[in-house]
Amino acid sequence: MSQLNADLHCHSTVSDGMHPPADVVRRAHANGVQLLALTDHDTLDGIPAAQAAAAELGLPLITGVEISVSWQEDQTVHILGLNVDPQHPALRDGLAEVCRSRDGRGREMARQLERLGAPDPWAGALRHAGNPQLISRSHFARYLVDIGWMPNTRTVFEHYLRPGRPGYVEHAWASLETALAWIHGAGGVAVIAHPACYRLSRRAQEALYARFRELGGQGIEVVSGSQGVEAISRIAQVARRYGFLASRGSDFHGPGEGFELGRGPLLPPDLTPVWSLWGY
Ligand code: AMP
Ligand code: MN
Ligand code: MN
Ligand code: MN
Repeated sequence: MSQLNADLHCHSTVSDGMHPPADVVRRAHANGVQLLALTDHDTLDGIPAAQAAAAELGLPLITGVEISVSWQEDQTVHILGLNVDPQHPALRDGLAEVCRSRDGRGREMARQLERLGAPDPWAGALRHAGNPQLISRSHFARYLVDIGWMPNTRTVFEHYLRPGRPGYVEHAWASLETALAWIHGAGGVAVIAHPACYRLSRRAQEALYARFRELGGQGIEVVSGSQGVEAISRIAQVARRYGFLASRGSDFHGPGEGFELGRGPLLPPDLTPVWSLWGY
């Protein structure tokens, strides 16, 4: 059913979202979401609390994770792993290693921001992190808003935290091959998150789609709160050309940062939704 109000991409305080997992689930339910996946960055630690809250409400929940991947020429792309076994050892161990590397990256980011004059940015970022095991640029961004460097996180990213800016730290994430091996090993389905957001040439985009499919990747986010509605028809064409299953997700982090849970256009009706794999 392509017209289901499914939201298969959102974040909790376990990564860089602003609400604890159970609150995210309750908010999704209140917004009319019919099928939900919590997809925190590089961690599955929010899944048990989300499952408990979803069971209480009778809201179907798909397990999920959004894995950070380094793809060609130091580009970062995000791959969702949906319906993964959250206990699968290779996936868990792999993600734990990514979180450790995030810690080192965050400390380097803190050093750079300190040189720019921010007082104790590491402690500042930690104050915004619901889970000290998962430090993200978002936590630094919120701290820099706190201390008045910029009016909002979007402008912090623009001036300090994106590639080429003074607080940006290059980082080697998992390879596409490794991330897909983790997802498939854990019985899950891989989905390219917000494909319209990457600064890739046409050629590099096609190479990503082709390699992803070659590795057994099946899905692409056609509707995403992060990429805007104008991308829908273009990405829907990609789904048709490559035979990808279509996904839909708000990429909700909190009020005022992007889309609300379960809001936004439904999938174009001719596409096969990724949730058809699970009988919805
Ligand atoms: P990280 O995984 O630590 O590199 O942080 C990436 C996260 O930063 C994304 O998942 C978004 O939540 C957030 N982010 C990236 N770019 C922006 C932006 N331009 N404005 C606001 N948040 C952003
Ligand atoms: Mn995020
Ligand atoms: Mn993302
Ligand atoms: Mn996301």
